[in-house]
Amino acid sequence: MIILPHSKPPELEQLEALVPRYKRNDQTYQTIQDRLGKELAGYLGERSLQYYIKLLNLKDHFLLFGFRAKGNDSYFQIDLLLITQSFILIIEAKHLKGTLSINESGQLIQENEDEIEVYQNPLIQANIQRSQLSHLLSRLSLDLLPIYTCVTFTHPKSIININKNTTEIFPSQNLPNYIYKIQSQNQTPLVSTQKANTIAKSLKIRHTPKNNNLINYYGITDHLIKKGVWCTQCKSTIMKRIHGNWHCSKCNHKDKTAHLQALREFAVLYDRQYITNKEARSFLKIQSESTTKRLLSKFERKGDTKGSEYLLK
Ligand SMILES: [Zn+2]
Repeated sequence: MIILPHSKPPELEQLEALVPRYKRNDQTYQTIQDRLGKELAGYLGERSLQYYIKLLNLKDHFLLFGFRAKGNDSYFQIDLLLITQSFILIIEAKHLKGTLSINESGQLIQENEDEIEVYQNPLIQANIQRSQLSHLLSRLSLDLLPIYTCVTFTHPKSIININKNTTEIFPSQNLPNYIYKIQSQNQTPLVSTQKANTIAKSLKIRHTPKNNNLINYYGITDHLIKKGVWCTQCKSTIMKRIHGNWHCSKCNHKDKTAHLQALREFAVLYDRQYITNKEARSFLKIQSESTTKRLLSKFERKGDTKGSEYLLK
């Protein structure tokens, strides 16, 4: 049973709205673009685990995707957590392409085309998560099950060059077999199904998705962010509003409701629930106050006419 379903993290949504609007030649552009790449890879890796989990024929198990909570003193995040009556398994997904190996110092090396990237040993990362999780469960008086860890490579274009003795690291198609192996080693239930469910639900209550306001975090000034309504078809040009319709000069697409997507981006970018007429005019690049008022009339309004705000749901 899925207790915490897979979903897009708020920070990834922010980056997806921010990067295309960010001024290319600003020094922070590369940093946020790299951050988007990493977050997206993490999201895709976690998403691809769903397929292998569906192949499993486990009974009475509980799953939490992208669980993040406060451990000992800092936050920790687990790509997939499997809770059964006899064990807990932490599954760390790595969505990297190219040739992957672990060098003698224990670092993960990615060789892709002519580039070499170095990462922390993912098994050590998973073991840190284990100690954080174990600490949290002990605080909740729910440290009743042994915790196992594994690392799985989810990118279809990865070649894994890892010592055969390191059985906890494998490509994602081996995940079901790995889980069956752990299961066969832990056949005696240590807790009831209800208790396993309680463990999963108690963790879910403590789930805290990462949601930094990146504009504040990087101190991004407003002039670095491009305003306007992206074309909903080619997604590469800002549309113009002509006779009550949004037009794209590049692909000729017309869309009466293209501003809705832009308003969603405003909410995500600035972490806002409400927008004023003035802010909407500036963000949608519309001159007319009455046109903007008409576009916002579909949203719930609060406040008097002068200072009214519209709820962006
Ligand atoms: Zn277009």
